[in-house]
Amino acid sequence: MRPLCAEERHILSLVADDAAALHVAPPHVRFVATSAGACYEALFNRIEIDRATLALPEPLLCIVVAHEVGHATQRRTMLIDFAWTSLCVAMLFAIPCVFFASSFDEDLWRVSAPGLGFVLAYLACWKIWRAHGASRSAALELDADAKAASICGAASALAALEAMATRGHIDTARIEAMRALSYR
Ligand SMILES: [Zn+2]
Repeated sequence: MRPLCAEERHILSLVADDAAALHVAPPHVRFVATSAGACYEALFNRIEIDRATLALPEPLLCIVVAHEVGHATQRRTMLIDFAWTSLCVAMLFAIPCVFFASSFDEDLWRVSAPGLGFVLAYLACWKIWRAHGASRSAALELDADAKAASICGAASALAALEAMATRGHIDTARIEAMRALSYR
């Protein structure tokens, strides 16, 4: 393994400090060569820091790291969500499999009508699940922002979000929520 550079060591110490402040075990950190933005992976309890994040000015960097460590405090929730999703998908596939295996000798129409029913049920489940997932992850983002604000202060977190909104994609809902926090 190559030795860490000064910026990378600085990130590790930020992660350790934020984790201590949020009373959570420090997540692992992986430095990646992409520029897709920082992210947290609940499965591996790992924060990925890309080159673009590494090059951020100090105040922004602090907020981004605190936000990602904020996600680490949600790990249990994220993993339970993941387990439920996997279980539901497995059930959705298992039920038709059992049904079709047991009605193998039936007439075609007796199988195709329920088959169509399964397809419609899939589409409905997928739509509901997608909407549920979107509102769920939006709530997790707001929670991670609030935790970042509790470490770095709401005013500087708001300034950071506004600065990042001009660079890339930050939800207006996140900025509004942070504004509300900083006026409190
Ligand atoms: Zn996030």
